[in-house]
Order: sequence, then structure tokens, then C-alpha cells
Amino acid sequence: MTRTALSNGLGSCPRCQKINKMHSEKQQCSRCAHWFYSRKPNSLQHTMAWTVTALVLFIPANIYPMMTLHTFGKTEASTILQGIATFIQTGHYPIAFIIFMASFIIPLGKIIGLFFLVYHVKHRSNMSLKRQSHLFHIVENIGPWSMLDVFVVVVMASVVNLGFISNIEVSLGASYFALMVIATLMAAHSFDSRLLWDNNNKKEQTHE
Ligand SMILES: [Zn+2]
Repeated sequence: MTRTALSNGLGSCPRCQKINKMHSEKQQCSRCAHWFYSRKPNSLQHTMAWTVTALVLFIPANIYPMMTLHTFGKTEASTILQGIATFIQTGHYPIAFIIFMASFIIPLGKIIGLFFLVYHVKHRSNMSLKRQSHLFHIVENIGPWSMLDVFVVVVMASVVNLGFISNIEVSLGASYFALMVIATLMAAHSFDSRLLWDNNNKKEQTHE
């Protein structure tokens, strides 16, 4: 059995990293007086709630226009997909690729990864601990990259021979997109990766 801090009655303070002897699930740090839990309370429920929220927000983020262009009194709204199509039509493949990665592959990959991690802890699947941790680190680290999209759309629109444009407005879709990114960040933050170790220990115990 893998020994964890918790199985030895220890827990580290998230604020000052001091290793405390745990007397109960919730406890005050003996050094900095910060209250903390040995495991984030209701971690799976919170992760699930934020992940579902992210998935729901993903829909309006793609249905509503990401940006609105005002050209010579004409107003043109463009969703993420329309934006990608425009960049492909005008031969700007790298930009189309970046936007596609940032707005579809990364957020969806992250949402699926989070569902998978929650499922794994709940049902104790047979994935190795190393691979689970690996998955968690990927999920945790790709989050901020999604935000790239919002900037790319705004910056590129002004750069890519759109000099005739009098005004670019970031529209409703971008707000939903930003909220979706925040929801995935919250989901990853709510997930207590130590549940993976606990889970692994339980699995090993049932095998012993
Ligand atoms: Zn402390």
C-alpha cells in the first residue's frame, strides 16, 4: 500500500506548507493559524458542478457572435466557427488552426478530462496512478491557454488586412467563452488530486 500523508495522520497547510498532525478533517495550522481540510470538502461535487457549467456555457459561446465588425456603416457579426471559416477562405491557415485549437480542442479536451477524472475517482477504474496524475496535470495546465482565443480574435481581426474596419466590438459570445474558461479553471481548482492517491490505496487494499 502506498503511504500518504493522510494515512499517517498528517496534512500539509495550503498556505504555509507546514506539515501538521491531523486531529480532525478540518483543522487550524499550528504555524499560521489558517483553517484547512486534509481533503477539499465536496471536491467531486464541486468539480462536477463547474464542469457541467462549462459544458453548458460552451453552447452559447459558439452560437452567439464572438465579435461584431462595423465597416462603412455595415454591421457584421461573426461566431467562432464563422471566424475560422473566414480565416480559411482568406488563406490564413495558421490563425484558423490556433483559433480552432483554442476554442474547440482545448476547452472540450479539458471538460472531457475533468469528467473522466471524476468518473475515475467515483468508480475506481483501472488506470495507473501515474497516468491519472499525468492527465490531471494536463487538465490543470491547459486551462489558461483557452483564453488565447479571445485575444487572438481581437488582435488578428485588426491585423489581417481589415484596415477598412472602423470599429470592432467583442460580442456576447466572447463573454460566454470567457465564463466557460473560468468555469473550467474553477473545476480543475475544485478537484483534489489527492483523491487519486486515496482511490489508489483503496483499490490496493481491496486487492490485498
Ligand atoms: Zn500554515
